[in-house]
Amino acid sequence: MRIKRAAKYGFCSGVRVADIKVKRFAKAGGRGAILGQVVHNERVVQEMEQLGVRTVDAIAEVSEPVVVFSAHGVPPSFHARARGQGLEVLDTTCKFVYDIHKEAGRAFGQGAHLVFIGDPRHREVVGYTHDLDPASYHIVHTIEQARAVDWSAFPEIRILYQTTLNAEEYEDVVRQIEAANPNTRRADTICYATKENQDAARELAADPSVGLVLVIGGRHSANTRHLFEICARIKPSHLIQGADDIDPAWLVGVGCVGLTAGASTPDYVVDEVEARLRGMAPRSAGSSPTRE
Ligand code: SF4
Repeated sequence: MRIKRAAKYGFCSGVRVADIKVKRFAKAGGRGAILGQVVHNERVVQEMEQLGVRTVDAIAEVSEPVVVFSAHGVPPSFHARARGQGLEVLDTTCKFVYDIHKEAGRAFGQGAHLVFIGDPRHREVVGYTHDLDPASYHIVHTIEQARAVDWSAFPEIRILYQTTLNAEEYEDVVRQIEAANPNTRRADTICYATKENQDAARELAADPSVGLVLVIGGRHSANTRHLFEICARIKPSHLIQGADDIDPAWLVGVGCVGLTAGASTPDYVVDEVEARLRGMAPRSAGSSPTRE
């Protein structure tokens, strides 16, 4: 059995920076709590907890001197809320997320109605919208939602995407809005890291030699789920959190397993999955599994 990794997978630059900042803080003896998961990966959360930086669901729960804001960002008012509670902030918000906050502010200042294409429950989207007047924006996730609004009522519309979306899947949603209002402009806010991982996953799944794709990532990671959806449309695929989730029955008759991983999956988890696959692969005398 061969193992083939996608040309691009795993930690993006934003998550790498967040991971480094929190570990550096913890190793220097800092005491803090992270608001929500620092990245959507349970292993990373456990690692942080072992370093003494626990995860909390609300700023009010922080009893340490420092609150950590994750790569997804927070509503701007959370900074003031933290200061009001006497907390210092370790901000690991990704620069691309800040770019969208700025773009939304600019578009709003120019009188545009804001349309965020994304999941209203995702923390990144909550970060963009929480502090806004509800009359100034919509969050649209489905074509039905796009059809339910009279977009012609707005003089101008600016479309902003949640960074981790697969833009192609929302093309019909955006076109619906554009068709209803010609003064609609798109801001190109899909993160390049997400797109690169998605393109590489598509290529991996389409490789005729690959019989099965394992997508590695956290259960709550939106971008990992998107990778899985892309692969599953092309090849039998499974979403796993780590090596323990591999079912040996999946490998029966498979000559080559493709591996990819979400933007919040550490490299060592991918290495563990590959090592486990090598251990499971049926071997004939003198042969060993190979990686491409
Ligand atoms: S996926 Fe992109 S936007 Fe999100 S944290 Fe990573 S680099 Fe930043």
